[in-house]
Formats: sequence, structure tokens, C-alpha cells
Amino acid sequence: MVYREYGNTGLKVSVLGFGGMRFGDPEDHDTSAEMLLHALKKGITYFDTAPGYCGDNSEIIFGKAIKEMKKTGIPFYVSTKSNKPKGSDLRRDLENSLKRLNLERIDFYNCWYVLTLDDWEGRKRGGAVAEILKAQEEGLIRFPVFSTHLPGNEIRNVIEEGYFRGVTLGYSAINSPYREDGIKAAAEHNMGVVVMNPLGGGTIIQNEETFSFLKVKENQTILEGALHFLLLDPRITVRLVGFRNLNDIDTAVSAVDSFVPYSEAELAGIRGHVESDFNSLCTTCMYCNVCPVDIPVWKFVETANGLFFNTDEKLSDRLKWHWGTDISVLDRCTECRKCEAACTQHLPILQRFEQLKTHIKMENQGG
Ligand code: SF4
Ligand code: SF4
Repeated sequence: MVYREYGNTGLKVSVLGFGGMRFGDPEDHDTSAEMLLHALKKGITYFDTAPGYCGDNSEIIFGKAIKEMKKTGIPFYVSTKSNKPKGSDLRRDLENSLKRLNLERIDFYNCWYVLTLDDWEGRKRGGAVAEILKAQEEGLIRFPVFSTHLPGNEIRNVIEEGYFRGVTLGYSAINSPYREDGIKAAAEHNMGVVVMNPLGGGTIIQNEETFSFLKVKENQTILEGALHFLLLDPRITVRLVGFRNLNDIDTAVSAVDSFVPYSEAELAGIRGHVESDFNSLCTTCMYCNVCPVDIPVWKFVETANGLFFNTDEKLSDRLKWHWGTDISVLDRCTECRKCEAACTQHLPILQRFEQLKTHIKMENQGG
């Protein structure tokens, strides 16, 4: 395992982080807790969770594991979050997290899921930011950080206000140009950078052929290619992977261990592809799960990613067999645009719906 300084905190953390949002069977607390212990023994020292993850089981699993992890004597660091704008509500979340996690103090506490600059203003106005800073003074939080889906230039605005020591953001080979300025600003301010979704929410692994430009070394797997691409960037401290089982942990750890530096030509080749092709894809983060008429928006927008790939797969088949749905579900859409407002990639979702409808109509006509 490789370790990097987390900004100016003086802490060194593993470059691979444990994301506690994808446990294979989150109801099975014992088996899931063993995964954290296994990861710690494999060298992972950064562990990220949140209230509500995995049917609200994640923090409970973490708490169970942390009791055992403390006994190993290996240092580790825990990150959790609150998205409450009101100070007193955030405080309740924090106290609940401390209790559930079996911790006296949380290493990294995130002002969670800052989606727009209006939202950010609301966190300050409502007292959430002040409450985080107060809890730090009281010793309940070690470092205040924030997690966000803002575009890069807006991330810069928040960073420059100077409240936080680190930022967690969605970043992968797919959307790296979209948040580039945020990463740049974090580096300029010597802040830690934690990357969620380094595998593009599965899109990269599932579209191995399209993303084959990431495989630049002999015998490199697509997982290695995607992780190595982010390992190359010294500004990124931690890459969070949501592990489902022990095998996922072992595979990701060995992907990190197999990293060797790239030549300038290899790097330029990857960047050329990324900058031209992949700034506007759905990462399947599911934050658009807000539809008042229950349309599973991400299923359609992820399928619409196929419009940008050379693929033999019929998109109607993908909807049917991969997602278990049908294009006629979109007839329910009232065009309220709530999904667009919530989209972490700021995608033109309604436009994608229309493109997908047209494409599927052509498929059905044999075009
Ligand atoms: S625009 Fe359509 S799909 Fe999006 S939230 Fe509104 S009704 Fe649902
Ligand atoms: S449409 Fe946007 S919010 Fe929804 S899953 Fe895709 S990237 Fe995420």
C-alpha cells in the first residue's frame, strides 16, 4: 500500500480508501464488519461512511468493526458526514454518529453533499458550518471537511472561503475535466482530496472496450488502468472504492500495489481521450432519485451513455435486461426538471431522454 499526506493535517493515509456504501449484504453486520478489519490488515487506513448508507446499516457496521480495529493497534482514520443545514440538526447527526461509530472523536467530518452554491450559502446561514467548527474546538471532530458535487470552479469558491482542510468529490477518468479546477484549488490550498466514484460508478469496468485507452501497460486490467490513472495525480490523497466483499478489497489493493509510473507519452494519450470524450456521462451516482412520479432516472441516463460509445448492444436491450425497465416509463415524465437540478454531473437529462427515445425508435424500426 502507498500512503500520502492528507493536505496540511500532518496525517498520512492510504491512497486507497474504504467506501462504506456498497456492502454486499449490509443486513449481515458481522460479515460486513469483518471486511473493514480485513481492509485494515491489507494496509487501508482511510474509512468513509455516512448516516443512511446501505439502508442506514453502514455506520452500525463501522462501529462494530471499529471496536475490533482499535485492538490491532494499527492507526486508522474515519470519515462521516451530515447534510443538515441547521446547526442543531447537524449536532444531532454528529452525536449519533459518534455513538454508532464507537468513537470519541471523528477524524474527518464532512459538510456533506453540497450541491449548489445556494445550498452552500444555506449551510452557513443555517449554522451547520459554525456547528462543525464548534465541534472541532470541543474535540469531537479532528478536521472539518466538505463533500460536494459542484463543478470545479464552484468548488474553488468554497475552498477559498477557508473553512475546510479537505474535500471529497466525485472524480474519475470519465469526469476529470469537469472538476479539474476544484482539485487544482485544493492543491493550491494544501488540502486533502478524497475521490469518490474512481471507477465512474461501474461505467468504466462495464465498458472495458470503450475505456481500453486506460490500459497502457502490458497485462494491465481495466480496474488497474482506472485506479492507476488517478494514482498518477499527486494532488489526490485518497481514492474511495465502495467494496461489496473481500474479493473487491483484495483486487483493489493488488491494483494499487501493481502501480508503476507512466511515461509522458502514455499520460498524454490518456488525457487526450479524457478531455475530448468523457466529460458528459452519467456516473450512476443515483442522486437524481428524486422523481415525484417515480421514474428511475439514472437507469435511462446511464443507458443513454451508450449513445456516446461504439457498442453493439441495443439500448432497448440494456434497458430491459440490465435495468429491468422500458422506455415507455418515460411517458410519465412531467418535465418538472427536479432530476436535472439534483444531477451531480449537471447533465441535460430531458434532452438525453429525447435522444434515447429517438434512438430506441430507430432500433425498433431496424435502423
Ligand atoms: S423531469 Fe421527469 S424524470 Fe425528472 S424528476 Fe421530473 S418527472 Fe421525474
Ligand atoms: S443522471 Fe446525474 S444524478 Fe443521475 S445517476 Fe446520472 S450522473 Fe448521477
